[in-house]
Amino acid sequence: MTKLYLAIPCYNEEAVLKDTAAKLYEKYHQLIAKGKITSDSKIVFIDDGSTDKTWEIISLLHKGDSMFRGIKLSRNRGHQNALMCGLMTLKDEADAVISIDADLQDDINVFDEMIDKFESGCDIVYGVRSKRETDTFFKRFTAEGYYKLLNRMGAKVIFNHADFRLMSKRALEAFSQYKEVNLFLRGVVPLVGYKYDIVKYERSERTAGESKYPLKKMLALAWEGITSLSTKPIKLVTRTGLVIFLISIIMLIYFVIRFFMGATVQGWASLAVSIWAIGGLQLLSIGIVGEYIGKIYLETKHRPRYIVEEYLNDEN
Ligand code: UDP
Ligand code: MG
Repeated sequence: MTKLYLAIPCYNEEAVLKDTAAKLYEKYHQLIAKGKITSDSKIVFIDDGSTDKTWEIISLLHKGDSMFRGIKLSRNRGHQNALMCGLMTLKDEADAVISIDADLQDDINVFDEMIDKFESGCDIVYGVRSKRETDTFFKRFTAEGYYKLLNRMGAKVIFNHADFRLMSKRALEAFSQYKEVNLFLRGVVPLVGYKYDIVKYERSERTAGESKYPLKKMLALAWEGITSLSTKPIKLVTRTGLVIFLISIIMLIYFVIRFFMGATVQGWASLAVSIWAIGGLQLLSIGIVGEYIGKIYLETKHRPRYIVEEYLNDEN
């Protein structure tokens, strides 16, 4: 039997939280009855600095049943950090931790399969979306394109897997040694290694509340993913520079030959265009390099990824 903990990051989730808790509660009791998980398994909500009633609901749930626990972060630190807090806090007690979003878009009925795979020796079980029918065309197209791009950049991410996964205590222990503050969990977890497997599921739509990932946050996460896992963009800058330099040499030779053939080169347009083009490219390149320097800057500060304000566990 597995002592299974759930880590659920919540940011302004008052609209879905009660419903989510009820569904998970029922699922947990089923799993306990089937003898798959121990009766002291826990469901843990991490409140990522919500400004609505999220924490009050979590407190009520905890008062009602000790199966529910809560961790309150001192302020909003973003999904990835909230999840990290959950994983790092729970790894000491649990045999395995499943991370799942508060809106339960991911199918809780694959818990059984995840636990089976864990018990048969897998340290990490990734939830993988079989279809993306509930997504808009735009989201599906960009998301799948992004996974392909990441892999081409050298980051080994699992295709169509977000942050719905089971990790064993051992995997979490290993994972805790990754100290980066620029965090893109789904890219770093595969680096841990160990035996893994996937389970497929269909993702449903959010039942209530709004997505906490507007386009801006999604783009930020996407960029984070690339720059924290790959240095290919910098190499690309070098390569572009080299190509442009070669072109300029060819142009130089061409103009010298033309000069000796008596044809004076005319036209300011070519000059103006190349100045703008190269100037733009240089700025872009400096920008890309700057992004990485910014990351180094943040990493060297060793600031904490999150600060916990309050725990709701068995002692209170
Ligand atoms: N979330 C969080 N902090 C944030 C933004 C989101 O903890 O700053 C949580 C949110 O409560 C949810 C999960 O991250 O449990 C995924 O968010 P959401 O479902 O809104 O994203 P989507 O499914 O639309 O990509
Ligand atoms: Mg969601």
